Amino acid sequence: MKHSASKETPLPDITLNDIGGLSQEMKEEIHQTLDIIKDPKRSAALGVKAPKGILLEGPPGTGKTLLAQAIAHEIGASFYSSSGAAFTELFVGVGASRIRTMFQNARKQEMAVIFIDEVDALAGKRKTHGGEESEKTLTELLVQLDGGADNEGVLFIAATNRKDMLDEAFLRPGRIDYSFQVPLPDTQGRREIMDIHTKGKALAPNVATSLDMLAESTTGFSGAQLSALFTTASKRAIREGRAEIDMSDMDFAIDRTILGNTSRSMNDP
Ligand code: ATP
Repeated sequence: MKHSASKETPLPDITLNDIGGLSQEMKEEIHQTLDIIKDPKRSAALGVKAPKGILLEGPPGTGKTLLAQAIAHEIGASFYSSSGAAFTELFVGVGASRIRTMFQNARKQEMAVIFIDEVDALAGKRKTHGGEESEKTLTELLVQLDGGADNEGVLFIAATNRKDMLDEAFLRPGRIDYSFQVPLPDTQGRREIMDIHTKGKALAPNVATSLDMLAESTTGFSGAQLSALFTTASKRAIREGRAEIDMSDMDFAIDRTILGNTSRSMNDP
């Protein structure tokens, strides 16, 4: 769903518990960061500054957007979300003005998260990045990130799968203070994600007892692919007139995901 960058985006009821595959270490780091953000005065008295910007780095579909939503939820922030691509290829000055408006609106809130997915489209290295207009938009983003006291209560979160493409000026501490890796899930992570996405779905006993095996055999699957797997299996079970997902639905869904065909309509199995 696309939302205007300058308007608040409805925030789904996502918490860190809805995200599978996060390592214990990462969960602790996130909780520590949230504690600092939630009580900036106490943190400042202890010599720790609240982060202004966080970068989430990892392959597509690993839960970076979910994580940004969970963070916003956890700190009770309004959510402003957009994609880096929404600021490019615009008439002169429009990208920069959108950035400005987004920050202005966010600053009106007591607490706000500004989330930009695919930030590499907006904050790519200036030498290789296209044209004067993109440079103006990036410069405006840097100006807004440097807003100082004006940005109190505003947390900027950016996501990318190409950190190597990002402009160094953008990555400077004070703009981006923390970088979290969000990798593809390992076997245990896939198992956790399966638990999340099978909640409320009727599984045949042979599927319910095979989730460990399924987690092992889905190496390389992202969280988004695992979620799609169970959606595809549910749709197939419905089409086949079954009340629960059985192993043939899972096999079908796995084949389809491997073939990258998950977007086909549910009428054509
Ligand atoms: P992209 O880089 O393509 O924007 P992303 O990393 O932001 O992807 P999300 O948009 O957060 O990924 O994930 C898409 C969907 O996949 C989520 O809404 C969720 O249903 C599922 N998903 C992805 N990762 C996870 C995860 N770690 N745990 C549970 N569900 C997940």
